[in-house]
Amino acid sequence: MLVLKFGGTSVGSIENMINVKKIITDGQKKVVVLSAMSGTTNALVKISEYIKSGHPEDALIVIDALRNTYNKTIKAFITNQELYKTVFVYVNAVFNTLEALVNKPYDVLLYNQIVAQGELLSTFIFSHYLQQEGVSASLLPALEFMRIDKTNEPDNFYIQQNLNRIIAETPKSEIYITQGFISRDADGNIANLQRGGSDYTATIIGAVLKADEVQIWTDIDGFHNNDPRFVEHTKAISNLSFDESAELAYFGAKILHPQTVMPVSVFDIPVRLKNTMAPDAHGTLITNQVHGEGIKAIAAKDGITAIKIKSVRMLLAHGFLKKVFEIFERYETAIDMITTSEIAVSLTIDNTTHLDAIVDELNKFAVVEVDDYMSIVCLVGHAIIFHADTPNLFQILQDVSVRMISYGGSNNNISLLINTSDKVETLQKLQRYVFESGSVLV
Ligand code: ADP
Ligand code: ASP
Ligand code: MG
Repeated sequence: MLVLKFGGTSVGSIENMINVKKIITDGQKKVVVLSAMSGTTNALVKISEYIKSGHPEDALIVIDALRNTYNKTIKAFITNQELYKTVFVYVNAVFNTLEALVNKPYDVLLYNQIVAQGELLSTFIFSHYLQQEGVSASLLPALEFMRIDKTNEPDNFYIQQNLNRIIAETPKSEIYITQGFISRDADGNIANLQRGGSDYTATIIGAVLKADEVQIWTDIDGFHNNDPRFVEHTKAISNLSFDESAELAYFGAKILHPQTVMPVSVFDIPVRLKNTMAPDAHGTLITNQVHGEGIKAIAAKDGITAIKIKSVRMLLAHGFLKKVFEIFERYETAIDMITTSEIAVSLTIDNTTHLDAIVDELNKFAVVEVDDYMSIVCLVGHAIIFHADTPNLFQILQDVSVRMISYGGSNNNISLLINTSDKVETLQKLQRYVFESGSVLV
């Protein structure tokens, strides 16, 4: 069994959905996980933001525009009149439901209900397109088997039991289609796996079904050695280890949801990244094998807040760090980077929900400074801290102000904390220092 996930661009136009059909009709048994068509989830988020800020009339304008786009797409795509009628009724019922929600009081449950519609739409449309083309495929409703627990972790036992039950009850098929991203929470409400979560859906399903491979089909030919949105001449990496890709995804490489490889790495199930628009390109294969040496790739994560905690007494006195960490633990706030000196400790967080309360508590025994709009730039590769070429990266110290450096926390990762305003320059310069060291440095 294979699990193939297709992202927003892959299902975002008629041309690309035709490519998806070609890719999945190769005779192999598979679960196909679909994202929402590109732009849809962003539009749904916008709708919920307008509701939250008390502007239902603006929410209705976005709903209307989205409805028109979908109606145009299905008219051109679903040419069989009977199937078209079915799809038209479903799509317009979704938009009628959205319209009915705009005057409801805003809360997270309303948000979750709204953003779930994108994957429900794409899978309904695509499965009817397959039917029109004579491809037999069955729809597995994700809301009947995907569940997260009270700590927002996938409830693997529940998912396994229910997915297998639904597959057994569904007409036997070579292709099972399901929705990425969406799930239920522990109370049965509609929830999701956070933005970009369809990748995670695919590996959760891959793990519970013990798939032979999980394939993430997207709009680029694999994992690149730097962020192609900001840096020119980046290159696809043919092989990555689970650890390398986990670090890169966690530290901001948008191509993968941060938790993607976690469910499958324990079962040694490979993850292959492929380009829907260029299916013959090699892509990137992620396994437990380590290939190559030196720095493999660079990624950056925004939205980081740095907190410097200066002790009024001896910082590294016995028990001080324990006291600091206990505060972060109490407020369920994860720490990413940490550096210490004799009189201060600096650390970073990306969840600032409880920042004020944390600072109030720290202020009871320390002087606290907070800097926001920071980014972590992360360089990853097997055993890079020992590699002869690694020092090249420190030329970056001449160019931008580096607030923190984390070196040696693991052998495979070096992280720099910089101002977000310096991010693009940092990524571009590092590309030259690290990967194009033959070029003239300025
Ligand atoms: P999908 O909708 O298929 O899930 P995403 O937009 O989530 O696609 O991820 C693919 C995009 O990630 C690429 O188009 C690219 O702009 C961006 N990206 C950021 N960092 C990387 C990287 N290191 N390698 C490849 N793509 C990256
Ligand atoms: N549609 C969701 C999003 O845009 C999930 C995904 O694309 O993976 O975040
Ligand atoms: Mg994505």
